[in-house]
Amino acid sequence: MAGRIFKMIVTKSHREYVIMETFNVSESRDSRYGMPTMHASPGHGYHAIPPSVSYGSTWLHSTLITLQNISFIFNAQHDCEGGECSYTVNSTGTHDGQATAKVGKTVIHSTHNKYFINLHALHNAWRIREVLPRNLTEPVPYITNREEFHHEMARKLQKTNPEKRAKAKEKAKDTRERKKRAIEFVEGAEGE
Ligand SMILES: [Zn+2]
Repeated sequence: MAGRIFKMIVTKSHREYVIMETFNVSESRDSRYGMPTMHASPGHGYHAIPPSVSYGSTWLHSTLITLQNISFIFNAQHDCEGGECSYTVNSTGTHDGQATAKVGKTVIHSTHNKYFINLHALHNAWRIREVLPRNLTEPVPYITNREEFHHEMARKLQKTNPEKRAKAKEKAKDTRERKKRAIEFVEGAEGE
């Protein structure tokens, strides 16, 4: 089971519990990023949550587990593109009375419930691979037609390299002439 920690509870008798929003891991990868995905899982564990921990008027799809039952943490990222999340642009303020050029963006996530399990994260990478089905984590070749791809790259380079060389030659000539003119100008000024 995958989940997001909502609250941690310690009872008077020092027993530790975690209320966890539960997610279902999809059976196939996302077609855009090739990453495993997960969704909030409806119908899970409403019974385990006492009414006092409802989140505003929204009930979480959650379950109550003991702290010892958490195996490891991992990184997941919201599918902002699919969820059409928006952002606000905030300036970082002023410096010496001048508005600074630096601006920050704050993402406002929508309620879209799809998340990517981040396989690029280094933390607990091997553990993620251990618990997920192999088809969700095995490396996928970037290209399948390697030889054809190399030929295509070579064709492109054969076309662009002579153009680049000609441009560089022209620029070098330009620089030489500018330097020559500058020296002539200095010598002329010294002669006056
Ligand atoms: Zn988002």
